[in-house]
Amino acid sequence: MDCDVAIIGGGPAGSTLGALLRLYNPQLAVTIIEREVFPRDHVGESLLPYLMHVLAEMGVWDKIEAADFPVKVGGQYRWGVSDDLWSLDFLTDANFKEEPRPARFAGQRVLTAFQVDRSKYDKILLDHAKELGCRLLEGVKVQAIRKDGDRVTGFELVPTCDEGVAALQGEKEITARYYVDASGNTGMMRRAMGVEVDSPTSLRNVAIWDYWQNAEWAERIGIGGTRILVLSIGWGWIWFIPLGPTRTSLGLVTSAEYLKQSGKRPEELYAEAVTSEPTIAKLTKAGHRENILQTTRDWSFVAAKLYGENWFLAGDSAGFADPILSGGLTLAQNGARKIAYTILELDRGELDPAWLKNEFDRSQRSHIRNHINFADYWYSANGHFKELKEYCAEIARDAGLGLEPEEAFRWMGSGGFTSDKLGEALTGSYTIGTVKFSINQMSGRMPRWELDGFNSFRLNLEGATLTRLASYERGRIQSIQCYVRDSHVLPNYLAFGAMATAMRAETEFQPLMELFSAEMRRRVPKSDTSTHFWVGLQTLEAMIAEGWVTPELVPRAKVLKILVMNNGYTYGWLKEGVGLTSVDPFQPNAVVVGWDDYLKAVASVSA
Ligand SMILES: Cc1cc2nc3c(=O)[nH]c(=O)nc-3n(C[C@H](O)[C@H](O)[C@H](O)COP(=O)(O)OP(=O)(O)OC[C@H]3O[C@@H](n4cnc5c(N)ncnc54)[C@H](O)[C@@H]3O)c2cc1C
Repeated sequence: MDCDVAIIGGGPAGSTLGALLRLYNPQLAVTIIEREVFPRDHVGESLLPYLMHVLAEMGVWDKIEAADFPVKVGGQYRWGVSDDLWSLDFLTDANFKEEPRPARFAGQRVLTAFQVDRSKYDKILLDHAKELGCRLLEGVKVQAIRKDGDRVTGFELVPTCDEGVAALQGEKEITARYYVDASGNTGMMRRAMGVEVDSPTSLRNVAIWDYWQNAEWAERIGIGGTRILVLSIGWGWIWFIPLGPTRTSLGLVTSAEYLKQSGKRPEELYAEAVTSEPTIAKLTKAGHRENILQTTRDWSFVAAKLYGENWFLAGDSAGFADPILSGGLTLAQNGARKIAYTILELDRGELDPAWLKNEFDRSQRSHIRNHINFADYWYSANGHFKELKEYCAEIARDAGLGLEPEEAFRWMGSGGFTSDKLGEALTGSYTIGTVKFSINQMSGRMPRWELDGFNSFRLNLEGATLTRLASYERGRIQSIQCYVRDSHVLPNYLAFGAMATAMRAETEFQPLMELFSAEMRRRVPKSDTSTHFWVGLQTLEAMIAEGWVTPELVPRAKVLKILVMNNGYTYGWLKEGVGLTSVDPFQPNAVVVGWDDYLKAVASVSA
């Protein structure tokens, strides 16, 4: 074999995979084959905080910070039933402190993300992979995949430019022990290996975008901070993402059907959107377009399988969720991280190879699906889409989705509240608080909390069987014991494990939450206790929605009335020594986390 791992594509998925493989095993020979010579432009610029942990693990967060990209503290949306703008924040601007840059990945910066110019971001990642020792064949295209049944036996290579000729030095093919497709939406190896894709949604959109020079930023928060702007118009939505002091990404998304029926060219629709939307017209007044209008179709899908005998699918080749949630790179780089862990464990030979591959496939596909479900809800619940009304109704019908808030919440958790972190109550990359808050903003109504009106909570494991699922941490895969029933999983791990353990000793809410916190302190000694109440609340909510907990009303104890709503994320609460709350205590609808506030909240419930 020429190398251990050969990767098609040097985008974020390919470089993340290469970097992590070399970081954890510097003996591995990893080759990344990229047809372009970086830097090259790419759409997809707004990141999520969840991804920051992957960048930090790769050792590249400081380099990204040094590039001085705008700090994303959240997003501002016009979406749903009202014309008012609302924000979904990782950290509210009132809490975002003036802090010199470059900063460290600590404190408030663990909660924020970046808005990145992809030509720079992707190059930093690829250079980092190279610095860690990956062999990079830039300007070289994989033009054919050699295979034997479900085994890949080699890549045929061809240079696309002089750099490629120099890199290849006459080489025409490469063989490896493992092959990975990180070729983005071309999905080169996925197609070659005959993997079907499933589009579990009628979301069939097109995106049309250009870059602008000298457009104004909609907001300036602290030093370098801002929010992305997402504005729905009757026939689609506009993104406005500052990428640096002078450059802004400005795009339009509409349904493929609408584009066709309008009889207009993408250029015409784009100009119409930019000039007719007053906020955007104002922000772009003093700016000018780079005039490199681009279009792409953006159809959500998941590949039917993500691995074969000696190959894996990474990034957009494995699946894609509509960009409304800014989840693409989080999915792509997290998935690549799991492939790196899987290959490292396959080489160690301590865990069952079939289980390792299945776990990657199961967790990544459900992560992508959760994002798609959430995106479906966003579209179907948007009252602004006047000309797309029937289209949105079709999405709702396809998904079997009703728009009652409670129903929507339960539907979103129907595939289980799972994320890339086993043991955390999330759906995709979003907390349960965020999901409820979004439903509230879009429907104008508050989804009831399942634990509302009860005061005692009993563990219900009836009919569940035991299994073992993978947890991906610090370069190793751990096999974690979990209960399984129907499509739901209850890991004996982190918050889910702590809650189940606490519930075996106590059922009444207040002492239960105290035991939960004690159990969390025991399991994750450095976790921030001030977040335990909020984490516990969301964990309980998920466990009720999935049937793991039966809520009850016992006499004499206080009854829970949850009046509060998180207006953002609660990410990274397990990070060492970091006090995390994304909640703004000054907002009337905010829940304030921390034990004092918890006690106040409990004191204010009706007896
Ligand atoms: C309209 C739109 C908006 C988006 N907005 C966001 C957003 O706001 N936030 C977000 O996180 N994500 C967003 N995304 C998604 C995001 O862009 C992708 O998820 C991300 O780029 C996936 O990374 P990747 O490494 O899998 O693929 P890519 O970044 O596409 O990289 C694949 C690489 O493979 C190379 N390649 C392809 N074929 C070959 C070959 N045969 N040989 C050699 N090299 C090859 C390509 O040149 C490319 O460099 C958006 C996507 C779209 C379409």
